[in-house]
Amino acid sequence: MTQELFREDSYLRDCDATVVAVDDGALILDRTVFYPLGGGQPGDTGSLSWDGGEARIANTRYGEGGAIRHELEEGAAAPSVGDAVHCVLDWDRRYRHMRMHTAMHLLGSVLQYGVTGGNISADKSRLDFDMEETVDKEAVGAALAELVAADHAVSCRWITEEELDAQPELVRTMSVQPPRGKGSVRLLEIEGVDLQPCGGTHLRSTGEVGAVRIGKVEKKGRRNRRVNIHLDD
Ligand SMILES: [Zn+2]
Repeated sequence: MTQELFREDSYLRDCDATVVAVDDGALILDRTVFYPLGGGQPGDTGSLSWDGGEARIANTRYGEGGAIRHELEEGAAAPSVGDAVHCVLDWDRRYRHMRMHTAMHLLGSVLQYGVTGGNISADKSRLDFDMEETVDKEAVGAALAELVAADHAVSCRWITEEELDAQPELVRTMSVQPPRGKGSVRLLEIEGVDLQPCGGTHLRSTGEVGAVRIGKVEKKGRRNRRVNIHLDD
Protein backbone atom coordinates (compact mmCIF):
# COMPACT_ATOMS: atom_id res chain seq x y z
CA MET A 1 0.00 0.00 0.00
CA THR A 2 1.17 3.52 -0.78
CA GLN A 3 1.74 5.77 2.23
CA GLU A 4 -0.61 8.73 1.63
CA LEU A 5 1.47 11.66 2.89
CA PHE A 6 -1.09 14.22 1.64
CA ARG A 7 -3.65 12.91 4.17
CA GLU A 8 -1.58 14.01 7.16
CA ASP A 9 -0.11 17.15 5.63
CA SER A 10 -1.80 18.65 2.59
CA TYR A 11 0.93 21.33 2.33
CA LEU A 12 3.68 18.89 1.34
CA ARG A 13 4.80 19.84 -2.17
CA ASP A 14 7.39 17.15 -2.79
CA CYS A 15 8.77 13.89 -1.42
CA ASP A 16 11.27 11.13 -2.01
CA ALA A 17 9.87 7.72 -2.84
CA THR A 18 10.71 4.32 -4.27
CA VAL A 19 9.05 2.81 -7.33
CA VAL A 20 7.08 -0.27 -6.28
CA ALA A 21 5.55 -1.13 -9.68
CA VAL A 22 5.37 0.14 -13.24
CA ASP A 23 2.06 -0.80 -14.80
CA ASP A 24 0.68 0.22 -18.18
CA GLY A 25 2.04 3.77 -18.19
CA ALA A 26 1.52 4.36 -14.48
CA LEU A 27 3.88 4.27 -11.51
CA ILE A 28 3.05 2.96 -8.07
CA LEU A 29 5.25 4.34 -5.29
CA ASP A 30 5.79 3.40 -1.66
CA ARG A 31 4.75 6.92 -0.58
CA THR A 32 3.35 9.97 -2.30
CA VAL A 33 2.21 13.59 -2.01
CA PHE A 34 -0.01 13.21 -5.13
CA TYR A 35 -3.73 13.25 -4.37
CA PRO A 36 -5.71 10.72 -6.46
CA LEU A 37 -8.97 11.83 -8.11
CA GLY A 38 -11.84 11.40 -5.66
CA GLY A 39 -14.58 13.15 -3.74
CA GLY A 40 -15.03 15.63 -6.57
CA GLN A 41 -11.39 16.77 -6.35
CA PRO A 42 -9.15 16.22 -9.41
CA GLY A 43 -6.04 14.03 -9.29
CA ASP A 44 -2.74 15.86 -8.94
CA THR A 45 -0.26 16.53 -11.74
CA GLY A 46 3.44 17.19 -11.41
CA SER A 47 6.83 15.71 -12.20
CA LEU A 48 9.17 12.94 -11.14
CA SER A 49 12.92 12.77 -11.42
CA TRP A 50 15.38 9.97 -10.82
CA ASP A 51 18.99 9.19 -11.52
CA GLY A 52 19.21 9.67 -15.28
CA GLY A 53 15.67 10.71 -16.09
CA GLU A 54 12.57 12.74 -15.47
CA ALA A 55 8.90 12.55 -16.46
CA ARG A 56 5.66 14.45 -16.19
CA ILE A 57 2.73 12.99 -14.28
CA ALA A 58 -0.46 13.79 -16.21
CA ASN A 59 -2.95 12.52 -13.63
CA THR A 60 -3.24 10.55 -10.41
CA ARG A 61 -5.97 7.99 -9.88
CA TYR A 62 -6.85 5.04 -7.71
CA GLY A 63 -6.34 1.68 -9.38
CA GLU A 64 -7.28 -1.82 -8.34
CA GLY A 65 -6.87 -2.70 -4.70
CA GLY A 66 -6.51 0.94 -3.70
CA ALA A 67 -3.13 1.43 -5.42
CA ILE A 68 -2.38 5.06 -6.30
CA ARG A 69 -1.46 5.25 -9.98
CA HIS A 70 0.76 8.14 -11.10
CA GLU A 71 -0.04 8.26 -14.80
CA LEU A 72 2.92 9.18 -16.97
CA GLU A 73 2.43 11.66 -19.78
CA GLU A 74 2.20 9.84 -23.09
CA GLY A 75 5.60 8.92 -24.47
CA ALA A 76 7.40 9.76 -21.21
CA ALA A 77 10.35 7.68 -20.04
CA ALA A 78 9.72 5.58 -16.93
CA PRO A 79 11.99 4.68 -14.03
CA SER A 80 12.41 1.03 -13.04
CA VAL A 81 11.04 -0.85 -10.07
CA GLY A 82 13.28 -0.16 -7.07
CA ASP A 83 14.45 3.23 -8.36
CA ALA A 84 14.56 6.17 -5.95
CA VAL A 85 12.50 9.07 -7.32
CA HIS A 86 11.77 12.62 -6.26
CA CYS A 87 8.13 13.70 -6.77
CA VAL A 88 7.13 17.34 -7.13
CA LEU A 89 3.52 18.54 -7.28
CA ASP A 90 2.17 21.23 -9.60
CA TRP A 91 1.65 23.20 -6.43
CA ASP A 92 -0.20 26.25 -7.85
CA ARG A 93 -2.90 23.99 -9.28
CA ARG A 94 -3.17 21.85 -6.14
CA TYR A 95 -3.30 24.92 -3.87
CA ARG A 96 -6.25 26.25 -5.88
CA HIS A 97 -7.95 22.87 -5.41
CA MET A 98 -7.39 23.25 -1.65
CA ARG A 99 -8.87 26.75 -1.67
CA MET A 100 -11.84 25.57 -3.74
CA HIS A 101 -12.36 22.44 -1.66
CA THR A 102 -12.36 24.42 1.59
CA ALA A 103 -14.71 27.00 0.02
CA MET A 104 -17.08 24.14 -0.87
CA HIS A 105 -17.34 23.17 2.79
CA LEU A 106 -18.16 26.80 3.61
CA LEU A 107 -20.79 26.96 0.87
CA GLY A 108 -22.35 23.75 2.23
CA SER A 109 -22.56 25.34 5.66
CA VAL A 110 -24.21 28.50 4.30
CA LEU A 111 -26.78 26.57 2.24
CA GLN A 112 -28.01 23.93 4.66
CA TYR A 113 -29.57 21.58 2.14
CA GLY A 114 -28.66 18.08 1.01
CA VAL A 115 -25.74 18.02 -1.42
CA THR A 116 -26.40 15.78 -4.41
CA GLY A 117 -23.21 16.35 -6.37
CA GLY A 118 -20.18 18.51 -6.82
CA ASN A 119 -17.02 19.07 -8.76
CA ILE A 120 -13.82 20.97 -8.07
CA SER A 121 -11.36 22.45 -10.53
CA ALA A 122 -8.70 25.15 -10.32
CA ASP A 123 -10.88 27.67 -12.21
CA LYS A 124 -14.45 26.85 -11.29
CA SER A 125 -16.22 24.56 -8.86
CA ARG A 126 -19.83 23.66 -8.24
CA LEU A 127 -22.11 22.10 -5.68
CA ASP A 128 -25.58 20.73 -6.46
CA PHE A 129 -28.17 21.22 -3.73
CA ASP A 130 -31.43 19.40 -3.19
CA MET A 131 -33.55 22.55 -2.94
CA GLU A 132 -36.50 24.25 -4.64
CA GLU A 133 -35.95 27.75 -3.34
CA THR A 134 -34.22 30.46 -5.29
CA VAL A 135 -30.64 31.08 -4.20
CA ASP A 136 -30.00 34.65 -3.06
CA LYS A 137 -26.59 35.06 -4.67
CA GLU A 138 -25.77 38.26 -2.87
CA ALA A 139 -26.64 36.93 0.59
CA VAL A 140 -24.77 33.67 0.01
CA GLY A 141 -21.74 35.53 -1.33
CA ALA A 142 -21.72 37.83 1.70
CA ALA A 143 -22.02 34.90 4.13
CA LEU A 144 -19.17 33.13 2.35
CA ALA A 145 -16.97 36.24 2.51
CA GLU A 146 -17.70 36.55 6.23
CA LEU A 147 -16.59 32.96 6.89
CA VAL A 148 -13.38 33.58 4.94
CA ALA A 149 -12.68 36.82 6.82
CA ALA A 150 -13.27 35.13 10.19
CA ASP A 151 -10.29 32.85 9.41
CA HIS A 152 -11.70 29.74 11.11
CA ALA A 153 -9.17 26.98 11.90
CA VAL A 154 -9.44 23.85 9.74
CA SER A 155 -8.24 20.46 10.96
CA CYS A 156 -8.50 16.76 10.19
CA ARG A 157 -8.52 13.82 12.52
CA TRP A 158 -9.06 10.09 12.34
CA ILE A 159 -11.63 8.49 14.56
CA THR A 160 -12.48 4.80 14.92
CA GLU A 161 -16.05 3.62 14.44
CA GLU A 162 -16.09 2.59 18.12
CA GLU A 163 -15.12 6.11 19.18
CA LEU A 164 -17.80 7.46 16.86
CA ASP A 165 -20.42 5.11 18.35
CA ALA A 166 -19.42 6.30 21.82
CA GLN A 167 -20.11 9.92 20.83
CA PRO A 168 -23.47 9.94 19.04
CA GLU A 169 -23.65 13.72 19.52
CA LEU A 170 -20.70 14.00 17.12
CA VAL A 171 -22.62 12.23 14.35
CA ARG A 172 -25.64 14.43 15.03
CA THR A 173 -23.61 17.56 14.43
CA MET A 174 -22.17 16.25 11.17
CA SER A 175 -23.53 17.59 7.92
CA VAL A 176 -22.91 14.25 6.18
CA GLN A 177 -23.14 10.79 7.77
CA PRO A 178 -19.84 8.94 7.89
CA PRO A 179 -19.30 5.84 5.75
CA ARG A 180 -19.11 2.64 7.80
CA GLY A 181 -17.19 -0.59 7.47
CA LYS A 182 -13.60 0.61 7.07
CA GLY A 183 -12.76 0.70 10.79
CA SER A 184 -11.94 4.38 10.93
CA VAL A 185 -13.28 7.62 9.51
CA ARG A 186 -11.41 10.81 8.62
CA LEU A 187 -13.19 13.88 9.90
CA LEU A 188 -12.74 17.39 8.59
CA GLU A 189 -13.56 20.14 11.05
CA ILE A 190 -13.88 23.83 10.35
CA GLU A 191 -14.04 25.18 13.85
CA GLY A 192 -17.57 26.25 14.67
CA VAL A 193 -18.68 25.92 11.04
CA ASP A 194 -18.59 22.39 9.66
CA LEU A 195 -17.84 18.84 10.72
CA GLN A 196 -18.06 15.98 8.27
CA PRO A 197 -16.23 12.96 6.95
CA CYS A 198 -13.96 13.97 4.06
CA GLY A 199 -10.80 12.58 2.50
CA GLY A 200 -9.74 15.58 0.39
CA THR A 201 -7.00 18.15 0.85
CA HIS A 202 -7.92 21.34 2.73
CA LEU A 203 -6.38 24.60 3.91
CA ARG A 204 -5.20 25.27 7.48
CA SER A 205 -7.67 28.08 7.91
CA THR A 206 -10.52 29.61 5.98
CA GLY A 207 -8.71 32.93 5.49
CA GLU A 208 -6.54 31.29 2.83
CA VAL A 209 -9.60 30.76 0.62
CA GLY A 210 -9.17 34.41 -0.32
CA ALA A 211 -11.28 36.11 -2.97
CA VAL A 212 -14.15 33.73 -3.70
CA ARG A 213 -17.18 34.71 -5.77
CA ILE A 214 -20.55 33.08 -6.40
CA GLY A 215 -21.00 32.52 -10.12
CA LYS A 216 -24.00 31.31 -12.04
CA VAL A 217 -26.80 29.54 -10.18
CA GLU A 218 -28.36 26.99 -12.51
CA LYS A 219 -31.72 25.33 -12.13
CA LYS A 220 -31.09 21.68 -12.92
CA GLY A 221 -34.58 20.34 -12.27
CA ARG A 222 -37.37 21.17 -9.84
CA ARG A 223 -35.37 20.16 -6.77
CA ASN A 224 -31.82 20.88 -7.84
CA ARG A 225 -29.86 24.14 -7.72
CA ARG A 226 -26.31 24.15 -9.02
CA VAL A 227 -24.16 26.85 -7.43
CA ASN A 228 -20.89 27.71 -9.19
CA ILE A 229 -18.01 29.43 -7.45
CA HIS A 230 -14.86 31.11 -8.74
CA LEU A 231 -11.58 32.31 -7.26
CA ASP A 232 -10.95 35.91 -8.23
CA ASP A 233 -7.16 35.79 -8.44
ZN1 LIG B 1 -13.31 18.16 2.25
